[in-house]
Amino acid sequence: MVYASFGDPNAQNTTLVFSTVHGDEITPLYVALQLAQWVRERQLQLIKTRVVIAPLVNPDGFFRSPRTRVNGHGVDLNRNLNTHDWESKAHLYWRTRYKNDPRRNPGPKPRSEPETIFQEELISKVKPQKILSIHSPLNFLDYDGPTHLSLSKFPREYVIECEKLRKRLNAKSSVYYPGSLGNRAGQEMGIPTLTLELPSADPKKADIYWRKFALGIRTMIQFSVPNYAGEIKTPRGG
Ligand SMILES: [Zn+2]
Repeated sequence: MVYASFGDPNAQNTTLVFSTVHGDEITPLYVALQLAQWVRERQLQLIKTRVVIAPLVNPDGFFRSPRTRVNGHGVDLNRNLNTHDWESKAHLYWRTRYKNDPRRNPGPKPRSEPETIFQEELISKVKPQKILSIHSPLNFLDYDGPTHLSLSKFPREYVIECEKLRKRLNAKSSVYYPGSLGNRAGQEMGIPTLTLELPSADPKKADIYWRKFALGIRTMIQFSVPNYAGEIKTPRGG
């Protein structure tokens, strides 16, 4: 698992990008690599801005033939993060909503997978203002993070800034799952988290998607949300 950091290493305006958390989603890998090239070429113009990109969070699933959504242990990495409802709901949802579909296996316990620890530790290290997670093929832009409903939980000014970002990107909030990144980083840690679901995983369309979403992604990167000064909870067990 690799990541690369671009721009001003001391910038508050930091965006963390996770891509290919599901190993059979090829278009997100292309978009993340194009984005890395785009920011690398513009590092001098990206004043007070940092972008950290982890383009291939699930290399085992990606390099397997055929490619798999799950990692080498058969775990869905977007159900394995350490959310407060994991113990009570992760396996319950898997059984009831997904009939134990092996593609949605949340794992034996939260943070059981090295790829999950990689993501959580990168969040702790980078302390991003925003997270962009690129998936396919559901074709939507999902927002998790502080909303007007959580004014009691997060400072009002911070919530308003997060809402501005959400509006500017036309993102909607939808259901979230125990152990997902949106739930963990967005809802629990209060880091506005955008999940971009590209319309398909067809590699022939990858370049069309990059051109289609590049402007929105750049807008997100350049948008500065003031840092939430509250306590950022570190995951249980380290
Ligand atoms: Zn996915």
